[in-house]
Amino acid sequence: MILDKQQKNTQTKLMLVLSAVCGLGILPFVFYRATQNDWFMVSLDLFIVVGMSMVFIYVYKTHNTKYPSFGFVIIALVGSAISFYLNGGNVINWIYPAMLSTFFVVKPKLALLINTIDLLIYVPKMISIFAVSDNAIILISVTISNIIAFSFAQGLRSQEKELKKLAVEDCLTLTGNRRALDIELDKVHGLLKNPAKTASLIILDIDYFKIINDSYGHIKGDEVLVALSQLLKEFFKENNYSLFRYGGEEFVVVCFGMKETNVYKLANVFRELVRENIHVSDNTITISLGVAEYIKGESVEDWMQRVDKALYAAKNQGRDKVMQLKMT
Ligand code: GH3
Ligand code: MG
Ligand code: MG
Repeated sequence: MILDKQQKNTQTKLMLVLSAVCGLGILPFVFYRATQNDWFMVSLDLFIVVGMSMVFIYVYKTHNTKYPSFGFVIIALVGSAISFYLNGGNVINWIYPAMLSTFFVVKPKLALLINTIDLLIYVPKMISIFAVSDNAIILISVTISNIIAFSFAQGLRSQEKELKKLAVEDCLTLTGNRRALDIELDKVHGLLKNPAKTASLIILDIDYFKIINDSYGHIKGDEVLVALSQLLKEFFKENNYSLFRYGGEEFVVVCFGMKETNVYKLANVFRELVRENIHVSDNTITISLGVAEYIKGESVEDWMQRVDKALYAAKNQGRDKVMQLKMT
């Protein structure tokens, strides 16, 4: 979510800069064409300037870039193509910035498709006014420009995907990290405003984990964490569960749409599963768990505090237990 916000801000700034540069870049031509009494071109350039201004104002006010992006591409490509059909000659050069800008505002594959269609629109006029060798140079240079822009945009997209993943994933257990948990809880809290929806939390903590680390070393300890997270992933694999490493040797499972009584039973089955399956030498690994269903109107912090209390109750009762704080 943090990265999404950051990305939205970047996209907003980019749209503002692009629309401002294009609008201001074309503005002098409005006056130049007016001095030449070329009123059709004045209208066309004005269409581009006004269009870009509208994109700028809309993005500035709403911070929404989805529809303005398409508006921008259409104005830039249609404007430059009409201009070329009317004036011919070196007006073809506008094709380069117009096409490059599409890669900034729409997805790379879509930009490539739009630009290919755009280029095909130029071809009949190009054939009628340029020599074969000039046309070859234009076609090849436009194609190379598009391939470079496409590769660059694709590279940026995959980097962005990787960064987004790294920001929300715990690198040892490959479960969601604390940031991902905060994002999920915010989302679930929003959904729980609907009176018909419910959700429960499970928090679990390995018992006497420090002893495992102290006796067998941190690498063995890490292996236990990985084994536990794999068991968690297999057990809570359905869509209504999401898994997070809350910190150290604590994990949280968000169970959307589930009542406390059912989650309590499930947590007990999982507790048994851990006891049966995870061992270090002769030591049986056990976990303690707390369970709490969301109480309408409470904050995420209060909900987390209640489930944490339940976990500590489980620890105080001797560990290897599931506790729930009965809803009042
Ligand atoms: P309790 O039953 O009360 O939970 O006892 P405990 O020993 O599990 O609790 P404590 O909080 O004292 O110890 C947690 C330990 O978890 C301490 C810390 O060294 C260890 N730990 C935290 N993160 C990691 C990790 O990423 N890898 C390993 N190997 N150990 C970790
Ligand atoms: Mg512990
Ligand atoms: Mg702990």
